[in-house]
Amino acid sequence: MEIKDRYAPSPTGLQHIGGVRTALFNYLFAHSAGGTFVLRLEDTDRTRFDEAFVKNLYDTFRWLGIQWDEGPDIGGPSAPYIQSERFSLYRQYAEKLLETGKGYRCFCSAQRLEAVRKAQEEARSSETGYDRHCRSLPPEEAARRAAAGEPYVIRLKIPLKETTRFNDRLLGDIEWKNEDINPDPVLLKSDGFPTYHLANVVDDHLMGITHVLRAQEWLPSTPLHVILYRSFGWEPPIFCHLPMVMGQDGKKLSKRHGATSIDEFRRQGYLPEALLNYVALLGASYEEGKDMYTLQELSVRFSLEKLNKAPAVFDYKKLEWYNGQYIRMKRDEELAALALPYAVEKNLFGADMTEDQRTAFVHAMPLIKERVSFLHEIPDKVAYLFSEPPVPAAAEFIPKKSNLPKTVELLTLGRGLIEALAVFSDADAEAFIKAEAEKAGVKLGDLMMPLRVALTGSRVSPPLFGSIRILGAKRCLDRIDHALASLRGV
Ligand code: GLU
Ligand code: ZN
Repeated sequence: MEIKDRYAPSPTGLQHIGGVRTALFNYLFAHSAGGTFVLRLEDTDRTRFDEAFVKNLYDTFRWLGIQWDEGPDIGGPSAPYIQSERFSLYRQYAEKLLETGKGYRCFCSAQRLEAVRKAQEEARSSETGYDRHCRSLPPEEAARRAAAGEPYVIRLKIPLKETTRFNDRLLGDIEWKNEDINPDPVLLKSDGFPTYHLANVVDDHLMGITHVLRAQEWLPSTPLHVILYRSFGWEPPIFCHLPMVMGQDGKKLSKRHGATSIDEFRRQGYLPEALLNYVALLGASYEEGKDMYTLQELSVRFSLEKLNKAPAVFDYKKLEWYNGQYIRMKRDEELAALALPYAVEKNLFGADMTEDQRTAFVHAMPLIKERVSFLHEIPDKVAYLFSEPPVPAAAEFIPKKSNLPKTVELLTLGRGLIEALAVFSDADAEAFIKAEAEKAGVKLGDLMMPLRVALTGSRVSPPLFGSIRILGAKRCLDRIDHALASLRGV
């Protein structure tokens, strides 16, 4: 069977982790099987529609590097892929159900429906929802009233006293008593707009969707969809409801837990590779002992058998770990380019970035790669390379069990090594300074500490030799002189 699946978002909000997980799994499933992945915009809810959400959808997936094979922006054999451009189709199909008696016109006014609801509530009736008032209207009478201009909706005639059965690829056989389905739901509203259920089912059928992989919150709608397929005489697609995504507290992942919209993650300096890699693991397991996957590797490995039944727990710490891993894998130029906007925002380079500053920024990347989990942490970590760090208090310079005069001596000794250190490779620099420390009869750490504090402004810093090379001998000597003057002034 040629596999075709889809991501069918409603543009009523920003793209978030749950939606991206659904899109990614559909993408991976289609790719793993040489099938087709479709994007369809379900914009039937015009009150909550916003063009900005459509833009956000495109931006998000472009950034993540997920591309569909058919969709509103690229077209395809089932175009259009935007439901609001397909409205006449839905009416046509709803009317087919009138012809076959699987659907009926309902003329009930909003007031009548409200009165029914109130009465049910007051009677604490076990019956809720529509009372099927128009279900038994003779079709000819209904057609007459419609022709006379009376407004109506088209409802699905749910077979009474039956049980609807279907198979979910992940959850197994599912049975749903029809009496537990919302009675005779509206398919076509009086203004001619379809409801989600009608548009979704008609489109999945017409677009030849073979597999519906979607969030578990849609499971309660599925019996209704199955009845709708059968009412049309169509074979339902294979359903697979994806495991829930929870926060650490076992509640459905939401804003209370932290960032959920992809925009927010993006602003916080997450890399698309890290997000994709992590999201791909939300509810699926691939290979024992392997954490890092490219989109390509996932496409090869994904199958519905890899899905877990148990809910996935979203672990922000784990995502952070992934981000650090992907930062480490970046080439220096690429990482520098990604971090640059954050550095400019922090005004790291003054008014205009010089060519030397650009080069220094690139060279600084290997020094900090191992020490950050986020792009936005980078500017602070390398700031000492671009502007003079404040000279710390004398105590900061003094190694353990040492004192001020000895520290001045150590720093003076270090000063004499700068010219050489500024040109040596890491390995040569290390051998050289070790030998010099031995010659002078001081501990290596005691020689390095005051030097580090003078050059970086801190006892804890990125690697010293690399920093010296980037700063160059002249700036190092200036900083040391500055520090010595300050120490001598104590
Ligand atoms: N438009 C629905 C949504 O926003 C689609 C649900 C489905 O995949 O069937 O999630
Ligand atoms: Zn009615």
